[in-house]
Amino acid sequence: MADEITATCLCGEAHLKCGRPLGTGSYCHCMDCRKSTGGAFSVAIPFEADSFHVLTGRIGSFTKTSDDGNELTRNFCLGCGAPLFGTSQLHPKTVYVKAGVIDDQSLIHPTHESWCQSKVKWSVIEPELASYPKGKA
Ligand SMILES: [Zn+2]
Ligand SMILES: [Zn+2]
Repeated sequence: MADEITATCLCGEAHLKCGRPLGTGSYCHCMDCRKSTGGAFSVAIPFEADSFHVLTGRIGSFTKTSDDGNELTRNFCLGCGAPLFGTSQLHPKTVYVKAGVIDDQSLIHPTHESWCQSKVKWSVIEPELASYPKGKA
């Protein structure tokens, strides 16, 4: 990945400088990720906490103890509610940036899936479903 990886929220208020990537990222199928994203799963990329910076924006946060007993803080834009990044008590030197808010999507290559015990059926898109280049007319 490039050194200057940036991320922005939906409304554009929040700009993040992600810093040094520590890994490729993964899909998380846990229920907390489902609830917090509103989607079937979450994809997050780990970055070094020391080189991660919030450049602009008002950031809200919510902390919850996960199923495996770790405190996880989810941070979001107060302007638009977009989920931005997470921090974990267990890995204090890592910031997990939500893959969908990273500006250069060509950098995202998740390598594994976690919490598959709570994976929902609809997280796999059936190939025979009708598909449209834009919204269904
Ligand atoms: Zn926003
Ligand atoms: Zn999760």
